[in-house]
Amino acid sequence: MKKNDIITLRIEDMGVHGEGIGKADNIPLFVKDAFIGDLVSVKVMKMKKNYGYAKLLEILKPSKDRVTPKCEFHRTCGGCQIQALSYEKQLEYKERKVRNNLKRIGGFSETLLERITEPIIGMEEPYHYRNKAQFPIGKDREGNIVAGFYAGRTHTIIPNRNCLLGLPLNEKILDIVLNFMEKYHIEPYDEQTQTGVVRHVLTRYGFTTEEWMVCLIINQRELPYADSFVSELCKLEGIKSISININMENTNVILGKETKILWGSSYITDYIHLRTGEDWNVEGDGIAYQISPQSFYQVNPIQTEKLYSTALAYAGLTGKERVWDLYCGIGTISLFLARKAKKVSGVEIVPQAIADAKNNAKINGITNAEFYVGKAEEVLPEHYKKTGEKADVIVVDPPRKGCDEKCLETIVRMEPERVVYVSCDSATLARDLKYLCERGYQLERVRACDMFGHSGHVETVSLLSKFHADQHIEVEL
Ligand code: SAH
Repeated sequence: MKKNDIITLRIEDMGVHGEGIGKADNIPLFVKDAFIGDLVSVKVMKMKKNYGYAKLLEILKPSKDRVTPKCEFHRTCGGCQIQALSYEKQLEYKERKVRNNLKRIGGFSETLLERITEPIIGMEEPYHYRNKAQFPIGKDREGNIVAGFYAGRTHTIIPNRNCLLGLPLNEKILDIVLNFMEKYHIEPYDEQTQTGVVRHVLTRYGFTTEEWMVCLIINQRELPYADSFVSELCKLEGIKSISININMENTNVILGKETKILWGSSYITDYIHLRTGEDWNVEGDGIAYQISPQSFYQVNPIQTEKLYSTALAYAGLTGKERVWDLYCGIGTISLFLARKAKKVSGVEIVPQAIADAKNNAKINGITNAEFYVGKAEEVLPEHYKKTGEKADVIVVDPPRKGCDEKCLETIVRMEPERVVYVSCDSATLARDLKYLCERGYQLERVRACDMFGHSGHVETVSLLSKFHADQHIEVEL
């Protein structure tokens, strides 16, 4: 098999990014947009020693799990890798991915995983779930100003003002932005020449408060005719905050450092509720979070409530516990935990996030949470060295690369009864769980949660408990 060969392939597996895998001459080929059960014709694009990449030319016989995707851009856009797969099968794929990583990388047995894995938490409505959208603004070939998204891995804008993962009002907001730009001859930013004004439009929505934020990211310090822009946007219902963010750098990073309020509040508020029971009933008052354009905030608020409620249930708090929440962001999980624990300490590397966390603690009247700025792998060991203080429960929610070994080592030293690991990458999760299980912990519960329907991503919550020598040891048959 070599480059440019055209072959027929039966797709038998799916890779970590949701791509199909089929074998030709016993060599696995990765095919984007192909799914298990498809019989496809592909063109070999690149061959490595033990595997290759091929391009989908034609679906000869579609998998029975294919559905008609709702979005016509699902193949060109980088966002929804598996939209053409039925939602039920998407969930199965994600569960399988977590399980395979725990087996392959973590070394956990099939029997154990079978016993402790709980069913994936799927979405009731896998569309319109995102509370945040960032649309690049540019020009099409005819010179019209367009808003849309970058075609997968490129910087070519495909015009689409109505991404189905987001909310319908985005389209109206974008119409106002584009009309405003046309009317006052305000140019979109051009990455090549680094000229022009408007780079991106960022919108955020509080699902529980119905408050909207619009932020225009521009390549200069002022927005001309800002009053007119504000008055048009204010015609829409729910607009609470209108701002500009200044980004004059030649960079892929969307937001610049400085945000100026044009109208209204500098933030919107959203509430996260505890959910319990099989039907995920809302329990008690939510915790309020103030979100500014720059704040990190989970993009799928409904699934976030389920994810955090699972993490909280796994933490098994009674009110007496000393808890750490590592990689805490704006303290979303920390504040949840604080209601049920004696004391919670959050650690996060981004100073602004910690400022938000402290503010969020204050507006909720939470006084038993403290926050540290710094790397988890530095703050935790230093604190332990200085105080010798042990922990009852440690929660971690690291970025994709997982926990630094120094952090894990300190967790082991602090001897918490339980470790709750929230992870957005089950490969690094498996690696870290293995480390902890080789040092006195045992895996008790695992549950995946779908935060990003139609993408290949999956979030996982796991519970580890400290192994006590007098504990009943289960014999695996
Ligand atoms: N638990 C939060 C945030 C999770 S995202 C929530 O659910 O909202 C992971 C967070 O880890 C990010 O906020 C990131 O800034 C932070 N982070 C990345 N590396 C870190 C490190 N070495 N130490 C502490 N925090 C880190």
